Amino acid sequence: MISIKSAKELEQMRIAGRIVAETHEKLKEVIRPGITTKELDIIAEEYIRKSGALPAFKGYYGFPASICTSINEQVVHGIPGPVVLKSGDVVGIDIGAIYDGYYGDAARTHGIGEISSNAQKLIKVTQESFFAGIEYAREGNRLSDISHAIQSYVESHGYSVVRDLVGHGIGKKMHEDPQIPNYGAPGRGPRLAAGMALAIEPMVNQGKYAVKTLSDGWTVVTADGSLSAHYENTIVITKEAPELLTHL
Ligand code: MG
Repeated sequence: MISIKSAKELEQMRIAGRIVAETHEKLKEVIRPGITTKELDIIAEEYIRKSGALPAFKGYYGFPASICTSINEQVVHGIPGPVVLKSGDVVGIDIGAIYDGYYGDAARTHGIGEISSNAQKLIKVTQESFFAGIEYAREGNRLSDISHAIQSYVESHGYSVVRDLVGHGIGKKMHEDPQIPNYGAPGRGPRLAAGMALAIEPMVNQGKYAVKTLSDGWTVVTADGSLSAHYENTIVITKEAPELLTHL
């Protein structure tokens, strides 16, 4: 069952979303060769708490940090730690915040120092595929219209879309109905209606789409070791173009 958010609920979600977006901006200012992912985690957690919110990922099914940091062949759910970022790395950062009981969730991928033109293109196509998808995030369309647009955009650039992990409804819980695959035929699934809040998050691999989880139980990596990128925003379906809650 997909919940329709009231105007009052959307006010709370806008605040949660803005805090997530600002936290991403904060990290963008400091991310560079030589910084550790643990330092990024501390900066993000401080900013979220200072803003009157809680880090949504901390303790979620036992996740040990406030943000996810996923480097190179890591797709999502990487755990911040002592690893030092170096020039050439591609780092996905996923941030969630809870404000007054409502969730915001967004991911960005950064190139550290000088990255290859291939890596730059992967990051760009991943971000663009999100925007290609939300062209279809309109009242009256079907959910899989978004999925299909993302897949088509990604594959037209020779990349693949991760299938084992999907986007999701969001609101009073981080993961609500519906699940939102980033692939599939158009014209299927629930009809979109104003007030639905969705976290749309293409995960794009330079190689094949298969992924596996490392022995830490969290970190998802590409099965073929190829680079991966992630881009996500929490959006709301409206009568017109979707509203992006986690984008400044
Ligand atoms: Mg998400």
